[in-house]
Amino acid sequence: MKTIDVAVIGGGVVGALTARELRKYHIDVAVLEAADDVAAGASRANSGIVHAGFDAPVGSLKAKYNVLGNALMAGVCAELGVPFSRNGSLVVARGAEEEAQLQVLLERGRQNGVPDLEIIGRDRLLELEPHMADGVTAALHAPTGGIVCPYGLTIAAMGNAMDNGARLFTGFEVASAQQTKDGWLLRSATGQEIAARIVVNCAGAGAEYVASLFGDAFFHIGLRRGEYMLLDRAAGDFASHTVFSVPTKAGKGVLVTPTVDGNLLIGPTSVEDEVYSTAVRRPAFGEIKEKASWMLRDIPFGQVITSFAGERAYCDRHDFILEWGKENVFHAAGIESPGLTSSLAIAREIAGQLAKRLGAAENKDFSPFRRSMHWLKELSEAEKNAVIARDPAYGRIVCRCEEVSLGEIRDAIRQNPPARTLDGVKLRTRAGMGRCQSGFCQPNVFHELMKECGLRAEEVTKNGGNSYIITGGEL
Ligand SMILES: Cc1cc2nc3c(=O)[nH]c(=O)nc-3n(C[C@H](O)[C@H](O)[C@H](O)COP(=O)(O)OP(=O)(O)OC[C@H]3O[C@@H](n4cnc5c(N)ncnc54)[C@H](O)[C@@H]3O)c2cc1C
Repeated sequence: MKTIDVAVIGGGVVGALTARELRKYHIDVAVLEAADDVAAGASRANSGIVHAGFDAPVGSLKAKYNVLGNALMAGVCAELGVPFSRNGSLVVARGAEEEAQLQVLLERGRQNGVPDLEIIGRDRLLELEPHMADGVTAALHAPTGGIVCPYGLTIAAMGNAMDNGARLFTGFEVASAQQTKDGWLLRSATGQEIAARIVVNCAGAGAEYVASLFGDAFFHIGLRRGEYMLLDRAAGDFASHTVFSVPTKAGKGVLVTPTVDGNLLIGPTSVEDEVYSTAVRRPAFGEIKEKASWMLRDIPFGQVITSFAGERAYCDRHDFILEWGKENVFHAAGIESPGLTSSLAIAREIAGQLAKRLGAAENKDFSPFRRSMHWLKELSEAEKNAVIARDPAYGRIVCRCEEVSLGEIRDAIRQNPPARTLDGVKLRTRAGMGRCQSGFCQPNVFHELMKECGLRAEEVTKNGGNSYIITGGEL
């Protein structure tokens, strides 16, 4: 078996961007992902905020990579065709006690190197966000705060890494590691093997277990679930900034934010978990509504179209772990918020260290660019007509809510990393993410997956594993 240079364990945003950065050198890299697609963990279900960087403790790795990652985000999104908006954020205070907290955040932010922070009074606040609740007296305004699509960034980064020669093995849950004379032999739970000189642990909630496979036990990962309500695009212009309340020990609290796709997102809660879970509890709705209403009035809760949850993988050190463990094993663990914001800065740090260790030269053939996954809707009418004349599949709308064409569904199945499930198509194209929540488009996407991937109806899944759509018959 050929020993590759680097195996990255985990296809979240950190693993995907690390693979992409590694391909900027002559480094042979493979990403090993336990699930059937990338962006299966925290990178799939989070707030999508590109934090300004005033929240993390001064001198922490979180502060360093947050501020750096924020500055890098617009550039990488432009290269990868991922929507990003620097919409600015507001931390709102109600009364003197919370206003004192704003001063603390302002000072911390300045020490962390966050530009343009200011505390504003209620009048200015109402100009920025007219729906401020009556009790809100002041806010910390951070114009460098932004929003991004977290799974869009992960998929695009992995796709661009693959277009530049990286490999992705899905359904590869690393279950054992054995040291060899050249590095490590990794085995999956189903018996696949891959040998690598260096291993990078980007396994998110699974990072402590993965570390233990190499005999490393110097950190503990805890789980804290965050539940959300997502509102229809009809409510998307309710707020233009990301609005937070003053943070607590349990995190940044409930926020209200527009998404890059034009929805309104409200959450997350904070629930300690013993076992990994992305279920949404019934009481979460009341809690989210109550906390959001402390900040903004008349929130159009009647426009909720779905709910979801993501699991935070926090570390007992309460900072990122970016460290070498056992020989040639690098751990990128405890990457909780602001991990999405920091992801490219972290990936560059890892790739730089690995390139040095491997003595790898720069890859001058690397192309950083990738077409947007939503390129059709970005065209003028004349350009669209020309595309449709060449391939009528781009003129057949499959998802009416999000206006996704058959041609784009086919692109999602054919391009890197290929979609193999209904959710895979949904994350790449938005088919099924609209008001009807896939009631109209699902049968068509289902049929296209069968045709393009050569699957029988009983083999099509929602998101891999046993999530079959048609059950009860003989396979
Ligand atoms: C509720 C919530 C809100 C958040 N909000 C924000 C925000 O607004 N802004 C921000 O900057 N950050 C935010 N974050 C943090 C951010 O989402 C994470 O820091 C980031 O997604 C971590 O990426 P990752 O690649 O390290 O981990 P993940 O995305 O979790 O990826 C880890 C991957 O490893 C795979 N894996 C696990 N074990 C194995 C194994 N044994 N073998 C192979 N593969 C394995 C998993 O399947 C998974 O795909 C939030 C997180 C949550 C949960």
